Amino acid sequence: MAETPKYDIAIIGSGPGGYVAAIRAGQLGLKTLVVEKDDAFGGTCLHVGCIPTKDLLLNAEVYDYFKNAKEFGIVCKEFSIDWAAVQARKTKVVTRLAKGVEFLFKKNKVESMQGYGRLAGPGRITVTDAKGQKREIQAPKIVLATGSEAKTFPGFEPDGKTILTNKEILALKAVPKSMVIMGAGAVGVEFASIFHRFGTKVTVLEMLPRAVPLEDEEISAELEKSFRRQGIGLETQAKVEKASKTANGLAVSFTRPDGKAQTIEAETLLVAVGRSPNSHDVGLEKTRVKLERGFVKVDPYMQTDEPGVYAIGDLVAGSPLLAHVASREGIIAVTHAAGKPTEPINYTQVPNCTYCEPEISSVGLTERQAREAGHKVRVGKFPFAANSKATILGAREGFVKIVSDETYGEILGVHMVGPRVTEMIAEAVVAMRLEGTVEDLAYAIHPHPTLTEAVMEAAHAAHDWAIHV
Ligand SMILES: Cc1cc2nc3c(=O)[nH]c(=O)nc-3n(C[C@H](O)[C@H](O)[C@H](O)COP(=O)(O)OP(=O)(O)OC[C@H]3O[C@@H](n4cnc5c(N)ncnc54)[C@H](O)[C@@H]3O)c2cc1C
Repeated sequence: MAETPKYDIAIIGSGPGGYVAAIRAGQLGLKTLVVEKDDAFGGTCLHVGCIPTKDLLLNAEVYDYFKNAKEFGIVCKEFSIDWAAVQARKTKVVTRLAKGVEFLFKKNKVESMQGYGRLAGPGRITVTDAKGQKREIQAPKIVLATGSEAKTFPGFEPDGKTILTNKEILALKAVPKSMVIMGAGAVGVEFASIFHRFGTKVTVLEMLPRAVPLEDEEISAELEKSFRRQGIGLETQAKVEKASKTANGLAVSFTRPDGKAQTIEAETLLVAVGRSPNSHDVGLEKTRVKLERGFVKVDPYMQTDEPGVYAIGDLVAGSPLLAHVASREGIIAVTHAAGKPTEPINYTQVPNCTYCEPEISSVGLTERQAREAGHKVRVGKFPFAANSKATILGAREGFVKIVSDETYGEILGVHMVGPRVTEMIAEAVVAMRLEGTVEDLAYAIHPHPTLTEAVMEAAHAAHDWAIHV
């Protein structure tokens, strides 16, 4: 009988949580195994999430430049979308990055196994391959990094043609003429921005009173204003009830709080209403692992209640569903498993980025949260319309808003909507981590002309000292 392979640590799932955890475990000298059920490493983020969506957003931006070429003095008479080439570039980017993960595994002596992993008892997992063959693995430390799937519900099951989730929409054979998007969270508004710019008539239906409901209220209002200006349909407080097939696609019915019903016809419907954790079939039944609405409960070092079993990423209860959070949690889990000192995450300092048009980024408390927490709030706001680089870019929408505490100038939250703000939020994260004040941000000299000057000016604005407004 073949011997049971033994590892110091086994990681189930190779998304940005699992693969980063594996690389760090290798760096720490642990004999490491990654188990992945799919053909390639990288998880949701690399294959059907962060990376392909941002690649498509770039295509859409380039297409927009062509549409507006005249403004830049460039005559461009004929141009069109070659959808097959758009998809081919996306595949090339994804494949290159997936190969990068493979290379990093080799470099750090991480072993991998293709198959479906399940906990099989203390320090043991089973891996079932595509042919149904089972192998048992021993590892005293196990990290569950199985991520999440798009939430779907009866009557809205994805069929790959008309009803789509983030997976099927990325494999469309052509740009649809019209699309209803259910949900105005990050995924919904990103796809709205992509397909609107490719020429699809997009309508977003959101059940809550505002788009991007987790963001500061002023950010939601600015995005909604911009969507309406761009011609993206947006209905808030709209509860989708039914999607019926028609000759050309679907009739999507929704109701308003006053009970009034409305129907929109569209070729496609994207269901973007949240994620479900992949915790149902990983062998948790006979363990002490505790769940909260299907998400795994962990302590600050990512330990579950089952000795030796950690959980990270989208699977974790209360953790924001973000790739960079999954990665950090992975590093914490394996460092702790290796018996080395590590620092738990301060979840109030996690940046959020939404790559819609205009982009959104934020960290820390919204103005409302800061007031509700009892802070003496001082707000500094600066519009991109008054920033020289934004004017050069022809992208003058949006603003930077800094929420601080009046007493010592402590930065409580930074919220941005506008051009390339997802590249700008890290400054605020570092400032908050170093316990910087709004004055620190104001006195730090920012290079000219850059969009980052808007952060400095917003900090000045907290004291009514902004120069350019
Ligand atoms: C459309 C979209 C866009 C997004 N854009 C961004 C973004 O721009 N920035 C950002 O930070 N986040 C973004 N996210 C969220 C991000 O993708 C997730 O937060 C991240 O992928 C979570 O990482 P993870 O490692 O926990 O899980 P996942 O990435 O979901 O990886 C889990 C892996 O585990 C494997 N697996 C599952 N069960 C088993 C099993 N039993 N055995 C073996 N393997 C298994 C899966 O095949 C998968 O490879 C986006 C998500 C979506 C859907």
